[in-house]
Amino acid sequence: MTRYIDVPNLARLVITKGLPVCLSEMAEYIQQDYQRWHDFEKCARVANHSPEGVIELMPASDANLYAFKYVNGHPKNTHNGMLTVMAFGALADVDTGAPLLLAEMTLTTAVRTAATSALAAKYMARENSRSMALIGNGSQSEFQAVAFHTILGIEEIRLYDIDREASEKLINNLSGYPGINFIIADSVADAVRGADIVTTVTADKAYATILTPEMIEPGMHLNAVGGDCPGKTELHREIVENAYVVVEYEPQSRIEGEIQQMPADSPTVEFWKVAEGSAPGRENQAQVTLFDSVGFAIEDYSALRYVMDVARDLNIGEEISLVPNLKNPKDLFALLQPEVGIALKKQA
Ligand code: NAD
Repeated sequence: MTRYIDVPNLARLVITKGLPVCLSEMAEYIQQDYQRWHDFEKCARVANHSPEGVIELMPASDANLYAFKYVNGHPKNTHNGMLTVMAFGALADVDTGAPLLLAEMTLTTAVRTAATSALAAKYMARENSRSMALIGNGSQSEFQAVAFHTILGIEEIRLYDIDREASEKLINNLSGYPGINFIIADSVADAVRGADIVTTVTADKAYATILTPEMIEPGMHLNAVGGDCPGKTELHREIVENAYVVVEYEPQSRIEGEIQQMPADSPTVEFWKVAEGSAPGRENQAQVTLFDSVGFAIEDYSALRYVMDVARDLNIGEEISLVPNLKNPKDLFALLQPEVGIALKKQA
């Protein structure tokens, strides 16, 4: 049987554990999996592009588990009452191919992306970082805010979105989370000024320059989340050129990340090296660091592994027959037995 977790059940799982706990525990799973990078079979995701968006398949596996995620990115969807990013995925047993878990992954992606961002920042941002600018206040943004507060101790978050109602929604949603002081800024430059960390999580299928060089101050850590497709970036090229750049999986990031603007041999460090300690998160206090995040399949593998463990512990979700379970595994036709007579009658 396969455990099935739909949207209400995933929400129940997060509410039962508490979002800060989920973010911290998922970050630990992601860290553990990045630290055993060589155990994984990896590939850049398969992306099918259309004028308004992209649909992607993201697989990863080790000797025990296989995971995949289906995810889209359609920045104009919100104008038609739909989410920009929607996802679902599965976890399977490598030895038999049997699916173990089928799960919603829209909410899961927001938790895993924020957990990954905060995990990377733990290594890359200056240790005493307390303030963050958060540019783009849509679906991912609350998760980013809570992750940076929980995992890094960020206390002040300056918000900017071209849609002021999005920033007001964020403040309204997080009014129950004590310890974070939110300020709505009048411009990106206003939000970024003096911030220790800058997170960009905007959605636009364009070579955007949300951040320009004159906004960047020594020692800042940039967490660029929204540029995650060919032709979709958020940072001015000069910022990328001058930063210490960490990516998830270089073959994918060269196509999709901020570094798509750079020559193919521009210096980058893959995050697994930072997580295992063979590369630094930053080289000095004055350096500008950039986590050029596009989202990588191992993070979804970790997220599904976490969801399965917690769902089993809390007995959340239902067992479904996603694939046949037969008395005689060579007799698939047995499934049709009660129907055979009816089907033949209809033909006659
Ligand atoms: P969303 O549509 O819900 O929110 C995007 C917000 O950005 C909107 O409120 C919009 O008004 C704002 N925005 C657009 N252009 C802006 C600009 N120039 N300046 C300021 N604000 C601007 O989308 P979402 O689900 O929050 O996703 C945001 C982005 O993150 C998308 O591009 C998505 O593809 C990306 N994403 C990346 C990862 C990853 O792992 N790197 C994971 C999930 C989503």
